[in-house]
Amino acid sequence: MIKNGTVVNLAYRLTNDSGEVLDQADSKEPFTYLHGSGQIVPGLENALEGAQVGDKKKVSVAPAEGYGEKNPELKLVVKRSQFPAGAKITAGMQFQANGPEGEDLVFKIDAVEGDNIHIDGNHPLAGCTLHFDVEVLSMRQATEEELEHGHAHGEDGHHHH
Ligand code: ZN
Repeated sequence: MIKNGTVVNLAYRLTNDSGEVLDQADSKEPFTYLHGSGQIVPGLENALEGAQVGDKKKVSVAPAEGYGEKNPELKLVVKRSQFPAGAKITAGMQFQANGPEGEDLVFKIDAVEGDNIHIDGNHPLAGCTLHFDVEVLSMRQATEEELEHGHAHGEDGHHHH
């Protein structure tokens, strides 16, 4: 039964409200995570609590339990001069910077209008309801090392980093 400290292998398919597939993993290359460590969105983690091998679930996760609501404060207009000299700046590019609370965020460049660069630090799935189709393939107890690191080390528990 899935509980905190269980390493879980999942097959899943993630779709949005219009049924578009955003992400998936199958039994050949399952997705592995450490339950209770916040490696997956809270809504899915809660839904999987207590599940057993072979269980199949359809889980819809509201933004608050997923990647959060879109935060308008993370949509900013900055000046070209704030980027390093000679930096190539085009719509669609991503870069890492500090958010308003000093957190590490990935910003995407939405648009370039002369000297004004429109950027967005929201997670691409912020504001989206997430529809998961999951199947619990297998599970095992996490190793001491995994518990210490707060993440799973792959299906067979070997160290990959
Ligand atoms: Zn590790």
